[in-house]
Amino acid sequence: MQAINTENITIDKVSMPLLTEKKVSVDVLRLDKIHPLISGNKWFKLRYYIEEAKQENKKTILTFGGAWSNHILATAAVCKINQLNSIGIIRGEEAENLSTTLSQAKELGMQLFFISRKDYQQKKIPSELNDTNYYQIAEGGFGKQGAAGATTILDHCRIEDYTHICCAAGTGTMAAGLLRKISETQKVIAISVLKNYLEMEDSIKNIIDEPVKNLIVNHDYHFGGYAKTNRRY
Ligand SMILES: *Cc1c(COP(=O)(O)O)cnc(C)c1O
Repeated sequence: MQAINTENITIDKVSMPLLTEKKVSVDVLRLDKIHPLISGNKWFKLRYYIEEAKQENKKTILTFGGAWSNHILATAAVCKINQLNSIGIIRGEEAENLSTTLSQAKELGMQLFFISRKDYQQKKIPSELNDTNYYQIAEGGFGKQGAAGATTILDHCRIEDYTHICCAAGTGTMAAGLLRKISETQKVIAISVLKNYLEMEDSIKNIIDEPVKNLIVNHDYHFGGYAKTNRRY
């Protein structure tokens, strides 16, 4: 299993006619380069949870997600790297064919449990897991430690070079992490990938201790969900 390598992160310039026209300079922090299976921010969000689990001598990590959840796959991979067992509680009934995401997670040793959408809403843990001594991580790594881990993303760039830090936002944990580090004159722009998730600001407020300032949440670019679109810009 390949290790996480944050030294692979690069800062790439984006060049587009629109940006030239508007005289805006945009760099992308290529977090996706840290590992072939763990997409970008997911490892950063997980790192302090995993540390805590190890300190508590937990052998198993349990978390939640949908069939296409990058967080589920990242958790499976991070657990494999750290020699921890992993359990994924998956939203909805098991489909005849596993999604690519879930088959990869399973291959990495994650034990999958499918629960109904109704049970998932309440994050009901299947009763067969009653005796398992697991460390639980919320869906998407949401929580204070997830945000604190995401803050360390900014150790990989010169943050003072930028006026705005933009990110896609699902649970808002990454945006919360970025907000913890920016200065008074900088802004975080979080582009929500979930349709009508208007409580995003409140969720972010719940996981950072300081008052939330300098946050802009944009709800107009989910394209029906997860920002999937064929339109070219
Ligand atoms: C998971 C993910 C997000 C959303 O992160 P949250 O912390 O849940 O808001 C954004 N971008 C990418 C590439 C992701 O994989």
